[in-house]
Amino acid sequence: MTSPDLSREPYDVVVLGGGNAALCAAITAARSGRRVVVLEGASHFYRGGNTRHTRNLRCSHDGTAPTMTGPYEQQEFLDDLYRVTGGQTDKTLAEMTIARSRELLPFMDEQGVRFQPPLGGTLSLGKTNAFFLGGGRGMLNALYRRAEALGVTCLYDAPVIRLQIEDGFFVSATVKYQGREIDVRGKALVAAAGGFEANIEWLKQYWGEAADNFLIRGTPFNRGDVLKMLLDKGVAPVGDPTQCHAVAIDARAPKYDGGIITRHDSVIFGIVVNRHAQRFYDEGEDIWPKRYAIWGRLVAQQPDQIAYIIFDSSVVTMFMPTLYPPIGAPGLRELAVKLTLDPAAFEKTVHDFNAAVRPGTFDDTILDDCRTEGIAPPKTHWARRIEAAPFYAYPVRPGITFTYLATRVNKQARMLMKDGKPSANMFAAGEIMAGNVLGRGYAAGMGMTIGSVFGRIAGTEAARNARN
Ligand SMILES: Cc1cc2nc3c(=O)[nH]c(=O)nc-3n(C[C@H](O)[C@H](O)[C@H](O)COP(=O)(O)OP(=O)(O)OC[C@H]3O[C@@H](n4cnc5c(N)ncnc54)[C@H](O)[C@@H]3O)c2cc1C
Repeated sequence: MTSPDLSREPYDVVVLGGGNAALCAAITAARSGRRVVVLEGASHFYRGGNTRHTRNLRCSHDGTAPTMTGPYEQQEFLDDLYRVTGGQTDKTLAEMTIARSRELLPFMDEQGVRFQPPLGGTLSLGKTNAFFLGGGRGMLNALYRRAEALGVTCLYDAPVIRLQIEDGFFVSATVKYQGREIDVRGKALVAAAGGFEANIEWLKQYWGEAADNFLIRGTPFNRGDVLKMLLDKGVAPVGDPTQCHAVAIDARAPKYDGGIITRHDSVIFGIVVNRHAQRFYDEGEDIWPKRYAIWGRLVAQQPDQIAYIIFDSSVVTMFMPTLYPPIGAPGLRELAVKLTLDPAAFEKTVHDFNAAVRPGTFDDTILDDCRTEGIAPPKTHWARRIEAAPFYAYPVRPGITFTYLATRVNKQARMLMKDGKPSANMFAAGEIMAGNVLGRGYAAGMGMTIGSVFGRIAGTEAARNARN
């Protein structure tokens, strides 16, 4: 770790946050010959925010990369983005993000990040997403090594608690560091400190008491403090503050940082019931990579924010196991008792579902013809009777991945002020501005795409605009 050297301030570029977006910006600015400091709120061990938990990065490519199948053309990527966002995206920024995503594999390679051969399995993403060898942590370690080799100063346990901004011009960031409050002055700012998903009080403004039952999949450090400071200082907001990306994760997961191993990908193999033992949504609506991100919100809308994925022994080996074993019982009634659900209501729900299942040929890799008839909600694909004892359940709660409220930026990653004027020296990258591109919805791997593309742009522009 580079030892902190605050005597070198004012820095040319002050980077807030220590995840992928921050590191891409820091490396790029340092490669332009600038003196850069990274202020990371977390400790050295927990550095890297939600980037630590990532596995892959979505990028357009021509199909020649040995670590991907393909090609994945820009137009196809754009179509995917439009589909998941329902068109709620800044078209100019979206097109630029996708065009520049083609540069990411060579850029990451130059920084020492390694990728693994394409994967199959539950997430069939070999064509669209490159998987990090060693996961997000391996990737981050490579980026930190590179940043430090370029002379970037990285301060850990250095949460930013105040920003001095005058008329949209960044002057300094105050960090709590080693028991003191220190003003770190800089000529340009890159804000890359994530969203506010770990701030339950803030989430409560939109979700009420239900937010107490939410689990946060990633770092407890992404409390949105920097985002709030910027918005309070006149940066224009973008994105729906009530929106968040949420998946169904095991109800036994820790409150924070449970990561990927707590996520359940078994929904399409069974049915999902709420506390009243009632089904509430089509479990087979579409292929899982296109639907996994709606289940957190669906569970959040259920009583007590809890639901149960129910399946039988015939499918138990068909999906990725998670950290927690399923709750099993020899009969449906016994399973209901274990889950503290009304046994009669539970049995009726399963029996009604079984009776509605029509014959078909099961294939979880395509939209197959196994479906229900005459039941609401329907299960439109992969519907098979739940009848082979023993029976199993996973209790699930909403697992919040990230929020959508963001700072508005332009093509230079430059923050725009509420009066429409661009800031002279403030840039943003990653989750803190992702709402410009992702107005809602999500396509797996886009978080890293946006962070890397805008991190590089923010680093370039901050280096260019570092002024006294
Ligand atoms: C379990 C999980 C799995 C995921 N998997 C993927 C995946 O495979 N592919 C993908 O594309 N996306 C994935 N995502 C989303 C992805 O993690 C984010 O899109 C990405 O990490 C955003 O990068 P970032 O640099 O903007 O934020 P982060 O990586 O979260 O970094 C934010 C940083 O800001 C710091 N910080 C916060 N507040 C302060 C403060 N006040 N002062 C100083 N520092 C502060 C934090 O400590 C952290 O270092 C996943 C998310 C989770 C939770």
